[in-house]
Amino acid sequence: MAQNPVAVITGGASGIGQALAVEYARAGVDTVVGYFPGDPHDPHHTEEQVRAAGGSVRMLPADVRSSADCEALVTAAVGHYGRLDCVVANAGILRRTALADMSDERWDELLSVDLGGVMRVFRSAVPHLSAGSSLLAVSSITGGVFGASERSHYAAAKAGVVGLVRGLAVELGPRGIRVNALLPGLVETPQSLDATNSAGAETLARLAEGVPLRRTAQPEEIARVARFLTSPDASYITGTDIRVDGGITVV
Ligand code: NAD
Repeated sequence: MAQNPVAVITGGASGIGQALAVEYARAGVDTVVGYFPGDPHDPHHTEEQVRAAGGSVRMLPADVRSSADCEALVTAAVGHYGRLDCVVANAGILRRTALADMSDERWDELLSVDLGGVMRVFRSAVPHLSAGSSLLAVSSITGGVFGASERSHYAAAKAGVVGLVRGLAVELGPRGIRVNALLPGLVETPQSLDATNSAGAETLARLAEGVPLRRTAQPEEIARVARFLTSPDASYITGTDIRVDGGITVV
């Protein structure tokens, strides 16, 4: 069995997932990183950065809409490293859609990735977890705290993630398994820089003027909190949702 703790991350070819894989490498946590098979970003970039940081990683194609793919991520962690200590359900999509255009397909696709994907990878992991391990879901401030036009399905999914986390914290707490949600604000990643479905660079810069800290976040700033929440340093934190948003939700 590996000495280092082992983490599974979903959606790790870019953005927060990629930054977290590197953050884990620096902290001596080995990883299995899933990447969406259709992702335009080369997953090898994550692998290279993790190795450069001195870490051990296995990259696997994994669509979180597939139970088998989620199972394969967990099997890879347990099979290769012999243990599993934490799972970060990070994969997510944002597709700008007004209610009038909200086809069943659009709704189902987003809910299946952003909410169903969290449940599926957690469900696969839990039989392999022991006391002291933890689950973390990347929700959003657009999930229970904040409203955003033409993102109602995203808000519903991300709020659903917070509910899922609270329920599982109660269910799994007696086994010593912690379950939390992270709610990022405006983070510079491919998702938020996509002007078609999200803010785009210009709008992001304008929105940043309304953030008390007067700037957007870098993915590494979210990754550091994710690493903390899944580490033994957060041993008494469960069932909570932590905003990492530069204060935007309090103005
Ligand atoms: P990102 O687009 O870089 O990362 C999302 C990742 O999810 C991508 O690598 C993508 O390929 C992957 N993905 C998409 N569909 C998938 C699927 N079916 N199966 C597996 N992976 C899939 O953007 P990000 O900002 O790093 O997003 C990470 C998480 O943070 C998401 O859940 C997102 O909703 C959330 N979030 C982001 C922001 C922000 O401002 N960027 C704010 C709040 C929450």
